[in-house]
Amino acid sequence: IEAEGSGLIEKPRVTFAEVGGLTAVKEEIALKVIHPLNNPEIYKAFGKKIGGGILLYGPPGCGKTLLARATAGEIKANFISVGINEVLDMWMGNSEKNLHDLFQQARMHTPCVLFFDEIDALGASRTDLRKAAGRTLINQFLDELDGVKYSNEGILILGATNTPWYLDTAFRRPGRFDRIVFVSPPDVAARVEILRILLADKPLEGIDYQSIAKQSDGYSGADLRALVDLAIEQKLPESLRQGRVLPLTMADFKEALRRHRPTTKEW
Ligand code: ATP
Repeated sequence: IEAEGSGLIEKPRVTFAEVGGLTAVKEEIALKVIHPLNNPEIYKAFGKKIGGGILLYGPPGCGKTLLARATAGEIKANFISVGINEVLDMWMGNSEKNLHDLFQQARMHTPCVLFFDEIDALGASRTDLRKAAGRTLINQFLDELDGVKYSNEGILILGATNTPWYLDTAFRRPGRFDRIVFVSPPDVAARVEILRILLADKPLEGIDYQSIAKQSDGYSGADLRALVDLAIEQKLPESLRQGRVLPLTMADFKEALRRHRPTTKEW
């Protein structure tokens, strides 16, 4: 694993302002990881131990990855994102060393948000080979999380999963993923916010956000993004024909809503 330039470490510009809804989740992250990082002396004076990670769970496409990236953006920290499944395949046979290297990269680039996606994959290994690799990896992972040998100061650890019940309970002990936060599908108000974010820089005419939000019950943030893409596809051919930019209208969204089916209901 290499450092900067390899694409492993990035410095996200996205902030909480670009995450629609999820107010309580943002507050929880601020309290647990952002304030401690920015004001370590206050926390120390109260004898509050800094550290531990947050596990984000919920249906796909509702903003877990976006939140993790925005957390880094909020504090101008570096960001490392790791998909556990991808890592298990890639590191087969040498996982422990690689996992250690990964934490070392984060330690060398503090402040750093270290984000583990699909973290339940560690507990739900399908093949025997993966299971064996998974076991040692879990122990290694717990050691690294505890930060005993090497300090994790300045590292914020976030994990994401669609299926928290598959996660090995050892991960949930104090100092590890000791907070579990539900990243819910957006309600009507949140869908309005997300639509506003997604459409902020688009040419529009007569858009009724409330109406679109009401008609998109069960849509995740990712579904809304797909919806906006469909609306754009709706408008592009005519724009090209006329050789000028035509604004998106409610008619485009009506057609897009007809074509896109929500995904969160299947969870
Ligand atoms: P998965 O479980 O599939 O990894 P996820 O919860 O991590 O899903 P994201 O990858 O964060 O979901 O969301 C996908 C995309 O959907 C985001 O990049 C963003 O464009 C949009 N999106 C999802 N939720 C929100 C939200 N709350 N506010 C704004 N955009 C959102």
